[in-house]
Amino acid sequence: MPYSQYKRILLKLSGEVLMGDQQFGIDPAFVAELAAEVKAAKDNGLEICLVIGGGNIFRGMAGAAQGMDRAQADYMGMLATVMNALAMQNALEQLGVQTRVQSAIQMDAVCEPVIRRRAERHLEKGRVVIFAAGVGAPYFTTDSGAALRAAEMKCDALFKGTSVDGVYDSDPKKNPDAKRYETVSYDRVLASNLKVMDASAVALCRDNSIPIVVFSIREKGNLARVLSGQGVQTIVQ
Ligand code: UDP
Repeated sequence: MPYSQYKRILLKLSGEVLMGDQQFGIDPAFVAELAAEVKAAKDNGLEICLVIGGGNIFRGMAGAAQGMDRAQADYMGMLATVMNALAMQNALEQLGVQTRVQSAIQMDAVCEPVIRRRAERHLEKGRVVIFAAGVGAPYFTTDSGAALRAAEMKCDALFKGTSVDGVYDSDPKKNPDAKRYETVSYDRVLASNLKVMDASAVALCRDNSIPIVVFSIREKGNLARVLSGQGVQTIVQ
């Protein structure tokens, strides 16, 4: 039995996941746990691209709500994603996993620029590639960055690790009768405005037939369970 039906995945983690139980920033112990899950998947032969958000540090919308120029605030958000990428790189390398960070905003002293062919080579060599700074432009999110990199790296699926275990027909925190979808179509997600990823990211996945696997990354071992088809998840397809 193969470990997973997938060969190459893009794993998107929201920045908040890196906080662990903190209210802000990065919890190195929790990042180490996440890195161990990524290592286990890689050791089982999966090719892994990672995209990490920046919401644990700074979100452009939050800055704009306090009167900042939106684009300026978004660039700060993109820089936050680079910090998270470096934290994850550190944690993976401490476990002996070779990684490269590629940033959509060039930052020669700390990481590579995004170069698709080079990223391809890294994956061939068994390295984990962490894509930072989203799409490199304001007014986007790292969800869109994840969809874009999943498409250009020809990933079999986009795995979205969040704090909920899938997509519900209404907010499970407010409605005890909320139902989780096993599968749901891209069009339903868009038409009903279901909270999965932002619309541009969902549309990009739809147009490129990339399934989105939504699952909770908070429970230990869940990535492996979901990869092997044994976990609780929703597949948007
Ligand atoms: N951001 C951006 N363009 C991008 C990706 C990110 O402007 O292509 C900014 C935006 O301000 C966003 C912040 O970076 O709020 C952090 O990313 P995101 O909100 O996607 O992080 P997450 O919610 O996944 O932690």
